[in-house]
Amino acid sequence: MVSKSEFDFVIAGGGLQGSLLAFAISSLQPSARILLIEKQRQFCGNHTWSFHRSDLSDTTWKWFGGLVDKQWDGYHVELGGVTRHIPIGYGSVFSDQLSQKLVALRSTNANLTTLTGSVQRLEDQRLHLETGQQITGTAILDCRGLSHGDQPQPRSGFQKFVGLEVELEEDWIASTPCLMDDRIDQSDGFRFIYTLPISPRRLLVEDTRFSNTRTLDRTACREVIATYLRERGFTRYRVCREESGCLPMPYQRAPRHSQMTVGYRGGFFHPATGYSMPLVANLADRIASSPAADAAAVIAAFREQMRFQTTFSLWLNRLLFQLVTPTRRREIFRRFYGKLPASTIQRFYAFQFTATDAARIFLGRPPMGLTPLRFLQSFREKRCPAFPT
Ligand SMILES: Cc1cc2nc3c(=O)[nH]c(=O)nc-3n(C[C@H](O)[C@H](O)[C@H](O)COP(=O)(O)OP(=O)(O)OC[C@H]3O[C@@H](n4cnc5c(N)ncnc54)[C@H](O)[C@@H]3O)c2cc1C
Repeated sequence: MVSKSEFDFVIAGGGLQGSLLAFAISSLQPSARILLIEKQRQFCGNHTWSFHRSDLSDTTWKWFGGLVDKQWDGYHVELGGVTRHIPIGYGSVFSDQLSQKLVALRSTNANLTTLTGSVQRLEDQRLHLETGQQITGTAILDCRGLSHGDQPQPRSGFQKFVGLEVELEEDWIASTPCLMDDRIDQSDGFRFIYTLPISPRRLLVEDTRFSNTRTLDRTACREVIATYLRERGFTRYRVCREESGCLPMPYQRAPRHSQMTVGYRGGFFHPATGYSMPLVANLADRIASSPAADAAAVIAAFREQMRFQTTFSLWLNRLLFQLVTPTRRREIFRRFYGKLPASTIQRFYAFQFTATDAARIFLGRPPMGLTPLRFLQSFREKRCPAFPT
């Protein structure tokens, strides 16, 4: 039983941020005593976490590279009938594999302890479990993910999706991922199909929507995916796994959390893409590169460094979900991928875009289907009604 123990790092939540912290600290400070607490029996949940290779700094890659399950040299998009190849490396981490690697790490790093339990409350150097047990540590990091209802949610649009991992009887038509193919019905906001060819006959295929509402009809999504596969000649396949999500795409700042709140709950995600990897992996690297006593200062510095990118991304979401009507939303993405250079796209995803990149992204937005009144209303306290879909 773990009780009254002193740890250097206590990590509440064994999802993406929590597990990457465990890997980074084990690699960069092997003598640090780490406690990782997860309420589920298995770490990491059920996700395919993808990212652009350029999202990760060279120092992060040193410990992160070994966690990557699949990499591609580039990817493509199919928007408005135009195909564009984007020569930016892309990769994926599979949550079941990451969970297994974490279990293996625990057997080689005697300073890493894991605990199945539900965290009730975190204080400066003390953590309370729901059982009443208390644990002390130098740095107590809150990595409990998206919070549900225990605080006011910022106003947002939603990126919602259902993904099926399928085993095909013939090779898939492309060897690179397709991040967006908008040749599907566009009701419920901007919609596209995302395909990830894990191997020639194993494919993750997702129906994704950028919508004003959070409701998701999973049956309808599965049918859209089946139609998409059928139209490409694939009628015989086995569904091996399903994942789904509804990620808020906020256009308002989240309420302030404690300095030690990281991961999604702490605002370390890209508001305009829904990707967390660029921020959580590089933040894990920074935290693990300093003594536990400096963690709060490291997190504050990282937060400060992403201030401009966060503000601009919230603004973009406000435009996307409150100014442009859902049926015209896809024109923004057509322009983004149709006109912008790969270097701007790369920095945008990595959350390292400059003011010049921001101007490029913003200027020339097509003035179609705009609703300026709704946009102005979105700044007021009372929530705007959702767009009709
Ligand atoms: C299906 C899906 C696919 C996605 N794909 C991508 C992608 O391709 N790339 C990308 O970058 N992002 C992706 N995202 C977003 C990304 O998964 C999240 O933003 C990311 O997981 C956030 O990391 P986190 O560690 O903050 O939270 P989580 O990964 O959600 O982890 C939080 C953990 O804390 C645990 N927990 C919660 N409360 C307690 C408690 N009281 N006590 C103990 N433990 C607790 C939870 O069980 C969970 O394991 C995807 C999301 C979904 C749903």
